[in-house]
Amino acid sequence: MQLYNTLSAKEREKLIEEAGKDRLTISFYAYAHIGNPRILRDHLFITWNEMEVLGRIYVAKEGINAQLSVPAENFEKFKTHLDSISFLENVRLNIAIEQDNKSFLKLKVKVRDKIVADGLNDDTFDVTNKGVHVNALRFNELIEDPDTVLVDMRNHYESEIGHFKNAITPDVDTFRDSLDIIEQDLAEHKEDKKLVMYCTGGIRCEKASAYYKHKGFKNVFQLEGGIIEYTRQVREQNLENKFKGKNFVFDHRRGERISEEVIAHCHQCGKPCDTHVNCANEACHLLFIQCDECAQAMDNCCSVECQETNALPYEEQKALRKGKGASNKIFKKGRSPVLKYKK
Ligand SMILES: [Zn+2]
Ligand SMILES: [Zn+2]
Repeated sequence: MQLYNTLSAKEREKLIEEAGKDRLTISFYAYAHIGNPRILRDHLFITWNEMEVLGRIYVAKEGINAQLSVPAENFEKFKTHLDSISFLENVRLNIAIEQDNKSFLKLKVKVRDKIVADGLNDDTFDVTNKGVHVNALRFNELIEDPDTVLVDMRNHYESEIGHFKNAITPDVDTFRDSLDIIEQDLAEHKEDKKLVMYCTGGIRCEKASAYYKHKGFKNVFQLEGGIIEYTRQVREQNLENKFKGKNFVFDHRRGERISEEVIAHCHQCGKPCDTHVNCANEACHLLFIQCDECAQAMDNCCSVECQETNALPYEEQKALRKGKGASNKIFKKGRSPVLKYKK
């Protein structure tokens, strides 16, 4: 029985091209109690491999988080299979609007400790005991309610380029930090305020809502399907859009424009801009906001130092990096003293 990939990404790319079939890019998640993630993992791999499903899937005791590419002609089969798994019956599928036949080139189903890195080691609460899910229409009403506290559960570099009007946007690097800050700020209002949360696709605030209920909050709500699904409903139903700016996304696009307002600033000159880039110096790779003029003046770098390094021949750059360990700032996500205009 084949339990792992046998084709390389290149071989797969060629096969997809030759087959000439349309594929759908789909994502979904579900929190559940999974007794033996390994067995589920093998079952999913065998079944989906047969349907030519590709993608990256995490299975853990707390649930499943999946990003997939499914041949359009196998979609019904795929859906029927999902519905045959009790905790995935009628799970909400996010289907990407832009079609990309090569969004994934391998099927990787991995067993993990968590389906999303959250830094939470508190297993005394039940992740499936979640808050009330609300749709875009109800969410719009709720966030105008004076008794509502609206919280953005994403990180600083995400909310910086776009967020809902009146939202609290904690200046944090991790989800874990957010949880604590909000709990402290709202300690006096666990019973009288409505705590409403949102994130990109819903997976983070679903866990947060369960956490806050466990901590004694009485009125906990979350935006179903996150900003992605909100935008879809707003457009489809012609509702008022209360999200300002861009939705940060974790693929090559970096951000999806939701409203015309530009709410962020270039980190180098301070003028209005909401374009995230990575510093061109490979040893740095800092994520930051840079306008076109600064990109040109700085050769796409975050600092003069990086600009100088980046101008050296590649072999020299490599020699410089040697023995320095990981100086790469990719995980610092937009925080560096060289950025004068980063809040
Ligand atoms: Zn600039
Ligand atoms: Zn740099």
